[in-house]
Amino acid sequence: MSIEDEIGGWRRTHYSSQLNPRLNNEHVTIMGYIASIRDHGNIVFVMLADKDGEVQLVFKKGKEASNSNSNSNDSNTTTPATTPTASTVVDGYTSIPFSKVKSLKEHSCIAVKGRVKVAPNAPKGIEVVPEELKVLSLARSIPPFSVYSKTFPNLDLRLNLRAIDLRRYYMKTIFRIRHKVLKAIREFLDKEGFIEVNTPKIISTASEGGASLFPVFYFDREAFLAQSPQLYKEQLVTAFEKVFEIAPIFRAEPSRTNRHLAEAISVDVEEAFVDYKDVMNLLERMVTYTIEYIVNNASDELKVVNPMLTVPKTPFPRYTYDEVIDILRKNGYSIEWGDDLSSEHLASLGKVINGYYFIVDWPSSIRPFYTKSNGKVAEAFDLMYNDLEISSGSSRINKKEELIERLKIQGLRVEAFEYHLKVFDYGMPPHAGFGLGLERFLMTIARLDNIRDATFYPRDIDRLVP
Ligand code: ATP
Ligand code: MN
Repeated sequence: MSIEDEIGGWRRTHYSSQLNPRLNNEHVTIMGYIASIRDHGNIVFVMLADKDGEVQLVFKKGKEASNSNSNSNDSNTTTPATTPTASTVVDGYTSIPFSKVKSLKEHSCIAVKGRVKVAPNAPKGIEVVPEELKVLSLARSIPPFSVYSKTFPNLDLRLNLRAIDLRRYYMKTIFRIRHKVLKAIREFLDKEGFIEVNTPKIISTASEGGASLFPVFYFDREAFLAQSPQLYKEQLVTAFEKVFEIAPIFRAEPSRTNRHLAEAISVDVEEAFVDYKDVMNLLERMVTYTIEYIVNNASDELKVVNPMLTVPKTPFPRYTYDEVIDILRKNGYSIEWGDDLSSEHLASLGKVINGYYFIVDWPSSIRPFYTKSNGKVAEAFDLMYNDLEISSGSSRINKKEELIERLKIQGLRVEAFEYHLKVFDYGMPPHAGFGLGLERFLMTIARLDNIRDATFYPRDIDRLVP
């Protein structure tokens, strides 16, 4: 027979974060999953985890069956603060059938009604003595990693069980930081007068070159998943002037790297009546605002993932493409003006230049067609962190003839862009903008080596589930 119960009328009265010694002797109802169990025979310590943290439950077998002098005091045991510790104050015996307690397994979901007890040696100085227990879902198997492990067990193993992997405190911390990064970015852009928009993700033409498109069936036509909101955000500045979008971009990246996903989140910003230098300054301020917000509002999380994080100094160093080429040649690379920077080039560069910096004034031949140029040099920039590209941006072409010219030079079909070119007949303001990869930015803040841990359910050439 199953020992599983229904939640019925039970509702949580407190999250673990709301429990404290002032609640001594109060009745509480708490719920969550079991992070760990320490079984001492007649006493079982259970760490119950909820979204905010954990609380220790102490199940003590009823008097008739337990030792008479069971004033248990394990205060000398040296266990990490996050695992159950025996407390100096253990009073109250449970009326819960002990076989039920003994049947509990890690990761099971339970609900408990019980009393708060001050317990100086327990985490946060309190524990809960359960009086009633509901097993809401008994774990059938134990995952091959502990919620406490910080070091990465095999990545594929974890990703195959992603929802459970995210119960690891290390992972939860990363995504709490992600949440705060998004909050800070939205707050910053809102204060700067930008409006949040959404653009179609099913589109008819490539915006960043054709190679990395995912085709989809769209009724009786071929369509594509958007590689970026580029053309639409440009169109939207005609009405709104300052727009941003935080949404997925889709790239059919065939390579297996630690920095490419097939589906990523892009923070796209576009502004009218400015040029690339203005939006570089904006981006620089957005980055420092966000990091400052994290330093001030996520100190607990940073202790776990990146205690050394500091707000970068501004202005970020700016290197021209020409200067970068010189550096690379000095490092022994034979690179021609007009070549794009390969991952080896960037790795070499990242060894000499650290932290956040810009690379500006790129050859227009290696930038997207909508990029504004002065002769051969594009008004374009990349924001880098060591060897990692965080963002690309530029001044955009706002003259129709120029845009048509660039489409032709890059071998794109002008007719396919008619829907976009039409807008340029009605007064397109000069404008500039950038796209910033949220996962890559998070990698720099939370010190992650692999972009797959900066997203909930990574998509890459090998992975379509879960
Ligand atoms: P890379 O050269 O690193 O492949 P990109 O220059 O092709 O990137 P952009 O088209 O400039 O990328 O996109 C703007 C930003 O979006 C990038 O700077 C990066 O932060 C992010 N980005 C682009 N492609 C990916 C991807 N496949 N996975 C994760 N983030 C990406
Ligand atoms: Mn780029």
